[in-house]
Amino acid sequence: MSPKKGIALLGSTGSIGTQTLDVIEAYPEYFDLQVLTAGKNADLLIAQALKFKPNTVVITEESLYLKVKNALSQEDIHVYAGAEALCQVVESNEVDTVLTALVGYAGLKPTLRAIEAKKTIALANKETLVVAGELVTRLAKENGVNIYPVDSEHSAIFQCLVGEFHNKIEKIYLTASGGPFRGWTNEQLKSVKREQALKHPNWSMGAKITIDSATLMNKGLEVIEAKWLFNLKPEQIDVIVHPQSIVHSLVQFEDGSMKAQMGLPDMKLPIQFALTFPDRFKTDFPRFNFMDYPQLTFEKPDRAVFKNLDLAFKAMDMGGTAACILNAANEISVEAFLQEKIKFLDIAHINEATMLEVQVVHNARYEDFVKSDELARICADKIVKTLSKS
Ligand code: NAD
Ligand code: MG
Repeated sequence: MSPKKGIALLGSTGSIGTQTLDVIEAYPEYFDLQVLTAGKNADLLIAQALKFKPNTVVITEESLYLKVKNALSQEDIHVYAGAEALCQVVESNEVDTVLTALVGYAGLKPTLRAIEAKKTIALANKETLVVAGELVTRLAKENGVNIYPVDSEHSAIFQCLVGEFHNKIEKIYLTASGGPFRGWTNEQLKSVKREQALKHPNWSMGAKITIDSATLMNKGLEVIEAKWLFNLKPEQIDVIVHPQSIVHSLVQFEDGSMKAQMGLPDMKLPIQFALTFPDRFKTDFPRFNFMDYPQLTFEKPDRAVFKNLDLAFKAMDMGGTAACILNAANEISVEAFLQEKIKFLDIAHINEATMLEVQVVHNARYEDFVKSDELARICADKIVKTLSKS
């Protein structure tokens, strides 16, 4: 048997992070967990470190360093704090694969550093590709690094492509559950409450992606993610609403044949496939039963009501740092909605207004993405302040 695969898990205390630990725990002879990191959840990070005994842990929130350090003082575990530490630990010789399960723009820098250190990437943090897909995929190519998708739709496409990498893709269909407000009108959406938006019908996820699913921004971000992962043109990507979340996405080849990947919604499967590819490991996850789903249905997304989807297509057309600007605006507007400073429909409004306001940089270098992100946050913040006063 080959040596164990050294894993750095960025964002271990979140929804994807904890499910990744379930996968890793199930195959101790295959995985060697080297690094765990968290943003602010020191208690869970400490508990995970005591259980899994990694080589290193990082708490990004520096004020929590001593708490973590003291709690692990009896263990042979290195403890670091801060965003720069996150970038350094992924470069360790013992790490083969970096699973990026942190949320938002914060994932970009450590992912770039991991690619430069020639680590395989298992990518859950879709914002990294949305913000700087061109830079990330170019660097990955130059360094001979594979990026394996964790996002269920992209894992589905990837699974459909196994054995087909030499065949051209005509088109892909990303499926969307439609979220908790599928079929709702603008009038109904005006008074949506935070708690309603946080109730996803099929998936249990972190707060940010749950709101993104309710506004269809998540699908917009996934369209951009797919463009970069599979080297597609925007017109080759379509979105179809499939409320049962059983068909996880589809590929259509040039001969007209379509392949879909199906199964019960459970993120552990795509997480595991990203870590074990090209192998499939036996699991005891519940199996699909046709009799529980006598009908699988498909419908068009309502682009007039859920405006974020078209904003993502627009950002792809604009190119340069446009998607970075959209992502930054969305991170600000979603956070403001979660803090109940703005209304549900304001999210898309702020995203659109920021895209109109902030200048796009073409042929962008890393510093340009940092600048566009910063300017977009300032712009979106201003609109939040105006709206929360009114
Ligand atoms: P989450 O909020 O549950 O967890 C986020 C993790 O990142 C936590 O460990 C948190 O401590 C850490 N973190 C947050 N902000 C940070 C920062 N600024 N610096 C460092 N660490 C930080 O999120 P999640 O639902 O697990 O999603 C993680 C990523 O995976 C997102 O990009 C999301 O879009 C993507 N994703 C999630 C799911 C899902 O089912 N949850 C599915 C597909 C894709
Ligand atoms: Mg997804």
